[in-house]
Order: sequence, then C-alpha cells, then structure tokens
Amino acid sequence: MLPAKLLLASFAAACTLAAQAQAPLVQRIAARVRPNDLKADVSFLASDALEGRATPSRGLDLAAEYIAAQFRRAGLEPAGDEGYFQNASYQSVKPNPEGLALTLDAAKAGEGTVAIQEAVASDLNRAAAFKIKLSDTAALDALTAEQVRGKVLLVEMPDAGAGGGGMAGFQAQRRILALAAKLEPAMLVMVRSAAQPANPNARVPLRDATAPAPKVPILNVWDKAIHDAVAAAKPGPIEATVSAHVAAPFVTPVKLRNVAGVLRGADPQLKDTYVIVTGHYDHLGVRPNAQGDSIYNGANDDASGTASVIAVAGALTELQEKPKRTIVFVTVFGEEVGGLGARWYTGHPIFPIAQTVADINLEQLGRTDDIEGPKVSQFNLTGFDYTDIAATFAKAGSLTGVQVIKHEKNSDSFFGRSDNATFADAGIPSTTLSVSYVFPDYHQPGDEWQKLDYDNLAKVDVTVALGVLDMANSAQAPQWNKENPKTARYVQVREKQ
Ligand SMILES: [Zn+2]
Repeated sequence: MLPAKLLLASFAAACTLAAQAQAPLVQRIAARVRPNDLKADVSFLASDALEGRATPSRGLDLAAEYIAAQFRRAGLEPAGDEGYFQNASYQSVKPNPEGLALTLDAAKAGEGTVAIQEAVASDLNRAAAFKIKLSDTAALDALTAEQVRGKVLLVEMPDAGAGGGGMAGFQAQRRILALAAKLEPAMLVMVRSAAQPANPNARVPLRDATAPAPKVPILNVWDKAIHDAVAAAKPGPIEATVSAHVAAPFVTPVKLRNVAGVLRGADPQLKDTYVIVTGHYDHLGVRPNAQGDSIYNGANDDASGTASVIAVAGALTELQEKPKRTIVFVTVFGEEVGGLGARWYTGHPIFPIAQTVADINLEQLGRTDDIEGPKVSQFNLTGFDYTDIAATFAKAGSLTGVQVIKHEKNSDSFFGRSDNATFADAGIPSTTLSVSYVFPDYHQPGDEWQKLDYDNLAKVDVTVALGVLDMANSAQAPQWNKENPKTARYVQVREKQ
C-alpha cells in the first residue's frame, strides 16, 4: 500500500499532466471527495451500534436515517414517497409447525421428520401422488399443469454428502421453486434420506407483500418409510395417496426502505433520462459464530459503496453546472438476502425504466488488500465487455490515475452477484464497480472500518463521479454490447421497452 502523501502527489500530477483542459472539473470534484468524510460515513455505518445492518433490523433503519441525513446535507432532492425513503412493503412469513403432518398411504412421517420449506396453509385428504425425477429435465419440461393438478409431487433429493449439497443443492432448490410456480400442484414434497443440517443463520423468510403469494406448500421429509417407498417407485403417477396438514404461517408486516435522492438534469430533452447510482446499505447483521465477535460490520461490504454514493452525490450537487441527464442516487436494502431492495426499485421504479440509461452499482471499494495482492489506484467492472460503460470510466481514470481493470475470471462471473444484475434484468445497461472482489474479511466479523484505505477510496470515487457525470452529459446513452452473446437476454428486454 502506498503512503497517503505519495498517493496524493501522484494524483495531483496526473490531474495536471493528463488533462490540462479538464483539470478544473477534476480538481473541484477531488476537493469535495474527502478521505475523512468517507471514513466518517463508513465508521458510523459499520459501527457495532448498527449491529451489522441486517434486513430487517433497527440497525438498518438507523443506517437509512443516516444516509437520508447525508443526502439532505448534499442538497439532493428527495425522490422517495416519504422524503428520501422509498417504502417497500414486505412481510415476514414464519412457518407454523402446529399440527404439521404428512402421510403416504399407511406411512405417517415420524415425529421430527418433516419440516416446512414454503409455508402455505394446506389440508390434503388422500390426494394422488406423482413422483418426479429432478435430473430428468426433458420429462420435467414436458410435464403439464393438467397432469399434476390436485396431486402431490414427490421428488427424491440427492444427499448432501452425495453431491447434493452446496451449489448443487442450491440449484436443485431453485428448480423446485420454479416447478412449483409453473405446475401449481397441490403440494410439493422433497424426500430425503436424512435431515437437512440445521442452518444457524437461517432467518424468517421475507415476502414482497405486493406480489402474488405462493400457492404451493413445499415440505421436506426424511422419514425412512416414506423415503424408501418413494425411492422404490418409478417416476410418474404412484399407486399411493398423500394426506397432509400445514397450518397457516405467522405473517407480520415489515417496513423496509430504499433511500433515494435526485440531482435534476438541465437539458430540455435529456433531463427526462436517468443515470442511477446504487450501493447496498445492508449487511449480514449479528450471527452466532466461534470468533468471539458476532457483529458482521460490513465496512467494505458495503458501507464503502454506500459512503461512495453519498460522496459522489455530494460532489456532483456542488458543481455549478447541472448535468444534462438526471442522476438518481439510491442506496438499497436487502442485497445480502437476495437483492430485495433493488428488486423493489425495478418493480416500483421511481423514474421510468425505459428512460433509465445506466445503473452504476458500487460495491467493496475501500479494501485494497485483495487476496490476489494489493489493488491500489484501480477498480474492476463486472460485465466489462457487456456494455460500453468501461470505456467511459477508463476515460475518467486517465484523468485521475486510476486504472479500470477487466478481471479475466471474475468480470463475468460476478455480474450476477450484486444488485446491478437486477437492473440488467430490467434491460438497463449496468455494472458493479469494485476495487476488490475477494478480500480477507469477506463476509466475516472482521470487515471493520479501520481496514479500509480512505485515500484510495477518495481517488476511486473521484473517478466514479467523473464517469457518472460524463454519462449524464453525453448525448449517447450507454449501450449493451450486442456482439457479446451473454447480453442477449438483457438486450431482448431493452428492445421491447
Ligand atoms: Zn455487497
């Protein structure tokens, strides 16, 4: 890591040498993006007092208030439905085990061998059973809702020990959920040879209260007699019936909020188009562990991105000349539990999606001690070749001495791992900017504010601000790279808008 003095000297030199003509803008932005301000924001957001900002939690609410206060200080116009807050209606849905029962013919699941995965109230009396094989994708694709209407789908799940754990298990779960939604059987039962290992970090599931509620109850069962009967059966209708009782879950409304402010554009035409800058302000909260510190502070992930959204907003609002396009600053909740805040935004857009030209998402910008080695004066973009956004930031970086990097391995694989993916799914050219993808305290209690390099963070944020401003002032909006087959699904959504 370079000493701060050297860093600032090389930065100043880059400003004067690389671009005499634009030096004043760079300098004005750099004067407003102060390392100490970033440190102040990150140290508060990542303090133990905010208890790791779980979604939902009081720490998360306090963080939202703090961000709103900083947007107020910056002079951003509030863009939420309640000042800076875009309220989202969610529900926590806690399964109710009261009277839970499952019977396959004469085999009744023994005490403690059945668990609720998707809590939907249900009473079945001798419903027809139908076995499916998850690995037979052709047969599953051919299966119709008519064939399984009113029936219970039984699916034998691979053991965690036999390649059914980890990512494979996760993917199997996703396919189960997709099948339930598509076929709408009376019930779906995952049959296992042993109990699932308990997850100490399991949380009460959250549901978007405005979305249609799931209709299909999903159970896990590991009763031996039921398992053996299902294992012995052939895929298709089974000569057996299922009776079951699942009580209605406990549903509680949960208030969650994105924090949104706007810097209005000045160009008569372009002002109705939008560049959106995002970062998630939630993290993992408090979790039991053996490390003696149960608070997951999330300083780099993603108080650094949140503080950067605040810093870029502050720098751009202070410029005398307004941008041509409108710039929207949004910090979102629930990234760590499935991108909920970003999904709420694209489902309930404050500004029209079709007129939103880019999402620049900021994640993990503060730590330079990447496991691959120091990452000073540089940042990565995910989906580097998916859009022409990287070129804009490279131009900005040439003014600040910051290199814009394509990480050969992670550029594409991390595209789907942050909130930018949700904006991409909505058709909006997007990327996530990160200094480090994997750093020593990633998702650990040790991700604390003292470990960030704030001089470097300031330098990166000046570059981000310049790039965002360039996008906002350019007549040509960012575009998907249609030559890249990986963008096809996003282009398709975009072209329909
Ligand atoms: Zn993150």
